[in-house]
Amino acid sequence: MGIDLGTCNTLVSVRGQGIVLNEPSVVAVRKGTNQVLYNGQAVGWVAKDMLGKTPGAITAIRPLKDGVISDFEITEAMLTYFIRKANGNRRLIAPRVVVSVPSGITAVEKRAVFDSAGRAGARRTFLCEEPLAAAIGAGLPVTEPTASMVVDIGGGTSEVAILSLGDIAVCESLRVAGDYMDNAIINHMKRTYNLMIGEQTAERIKVDIGSAAPIGEERTMEVRGRDMISGLPRKTVITAEEIREALQDPVNQITECIARTLERTEPELAADLVESGIVLCGGGALLRGLSIAIQNATGLPVRVADDPLTCVARGTCILLDNIELLKQSLESDLDG
Ligand code: ADP
Ligand code: MG
Repeated sequence: MGIDLGTCNTLVSVRGQGIVLNEPSVVAVRKGTNQVLYNGQAVGWVAKDMLGKTPGAITAIRPLKDGVISDFEITEAMLTYFIRKANGNRRLIAPRVVVSVPSGITAVEKRAVFDSAGRAGARRTFLCEEPLAAAIGAGLPVTEPTASMVVDIGGGTSEVAILSLGDIAVCESLRVAGDYMDNAIINHMKRTYNLMIGEQTAERIKVDIGSAAPIGEERTMEVRGRDMISGLPRKTVITAEEIREALQDPVNQITECIARTLERTEPELAADLVESGIVLCGGGALLRGLSIAIQNATGLPVRVADDPLTCVARGTCILLDNIELLKQSLESDLDG
């Protein structure tokens, strides 16, 4: 089984079956404790439905929100729930598991994920750096002696990496991705309309009318929230153009991170990228016009991977079958 432990979504894929689980990386706990509600079952969709609407004593948390593990016990509870669920609750047939973790997490955090997978019933666990799984899932020729570049824009982090010969040559992790875009929209609504909106509404605006570059049809959208002065519920109409402006800052930060990574790349590898270009994946890759914005900023060809939200999960599953091939990098991750 291959697991994409993402800051927003966790996906599990099984050889021959494809993606068998795709749920939000969210856990509901009793406030001030590590006690997961409903006997450890308030995870994923169940917990997501509680987010932002929880009564006082309950909070829904995303333990990997910033690409670092904020709480080991809660992360373990989440991973255990997902592994068991994907495994049809069969505890005896312990699977072999490849878990992809955000590249920014520390050795201690990796160890915690590794141990959790073992306790959750994995017979053997391998960790892999997320950009490697992303590139493999996107179908890039990572084992060849030529450079591939992948940019994975998730919820909490954007991971920018250049790979060659089955290894990551250069990589940067930036804490500017989908959540940051949502926040930029929340701030825009406050500043421009004195309107408070929630995170879920901000995300809906981004997905429905958000863009990184002009893309032809400019839509509008009706938004509801709470007036900051009167405190009363109110609605207003916003345009795609103003949301594009609000998203300019996160988009620029991402393109600057890509430029920085390219600057740190060996000239021979950089030369390969003139032809092969950049492949985008992760949910953020679905932002309209993002590939155009990155193409304009770097001068390199940019394309969005097929089914960008599942690239990493599909990559981990392919790694299951190629552990021999990639063992070195997987094992060194465990030591590191
Ligand atoms: P992670 O790997 O960190 O769990 P994902 O790759 O699952 O993250 O991507 C989740 C992010 O992608 C969220 O911030 C979500 O709002 C964003 N996203 C999903 N679909 C779209 C879309 N159509 N346009 C823009 N952003 C999107
Ligand atoms: Mg991801």
